Amino acid sequence: MRYPGGWRFKAVAFSFLMATVAINCNNTGSAGKNSGADSVAVLPPAADSAAVPPPPPPKPVITPIVIDSNKRYIFITFDDGPQPPGTGNCLNTFKSLGIKATFFMVANHADGKERRELVDAIRNSYPQYLLANHSKSHAFGDHYQYFYHNPEKAAPDFFEAQQKLDIMFKIARLPGNSAWVRQGEVKGSALVKPVCLLLDSAGYNVIGWDEEWGFKTHDGYSYPVESAERMARMINNDFEQHHTHTRNTLVWLAHDRMFGRQNFKDSLYKCLSILKKDPRYVFETIDHYPGIKPNN
Ligand SMILES: [Zn+2]
Repeated sequence: MRYPGGWRFKAVAFSFLMATVAINCNNTGSAGKNSGADSVAVLPPAADSAAVPPPPPPKPVITPIVIDSNKRYIFITFDDGPQPPGTGNCLNTFKSLGIKATFFMVANHADGKERRELVDAIRNSYPQYLLANHSKSHAFGDHYQYFYHNPEKAAPDFFEAQQKLDIMFKIARLPGNSAWVRQGEVKGSALVKPVCLLLDSAGYNVIGWDEEWGFKTHDGYSYPVESAERMARMINNDFEQHHTHTRNTLVWLAHDRMFGRQNFKDSLYKCLSILKKDPRYVFETIDHYPGIKPNN
């Protein structure tokens, strides 16, 4: 009789001890590095799956917007970056206003730590900002005639930029020329048509522009020609008069380097603030432009 009784006592004492250990493990588990291993001993086998890293997030898919005719969609597209301090000023201005934008960048401009970090920051901030392709060499250093007369050399310039900048979608803008390549459309001057066809067959979209904030260059820096108020009026008129490639949408071109100085950064902020006051205006990244070809 004593023997079974003693066994029972030992069993109860052992259970109590194990429960205490389990409680201690749970109490320290949230902060302890080895909590996962401890938990495995007391939890069902499903807990093992906690050690497996989560799957990567799904790859973003190109999704053109469905146009609401009561809205006016503005696609801000700024070219030639990274060009500090303009690029950072543009990014901070868009951030402070909560406005989406696309940066068409040149791979040869992306050398050096500061510039690489700007490219990375924009690439990693999708869907708020989109990194897109403005070629590797900007038409072999602005040699437009040679570049476009040699499409078999010009097309790889975009392919190399795509790789070097690690761009997500095949969306490009031609240096110095407005042309369009989308689903069922290849539109451009006779000069640029051959490279458009090569980009089209490689699955690329090419985006032109409807309106540009012009710039001048003086003493090595660039600055906007139109005032903030005038630029906002020009955009308003383009919508009023349907002077855009696709109705109810407007692709707006400017260059990062125009906003390197504080007074011109302020001008960008002012122009965007004027536009933002009109509830019809919606700002989107260019991957949502109507008729964009899907990823491949
Ligand atoms: Zn350019």
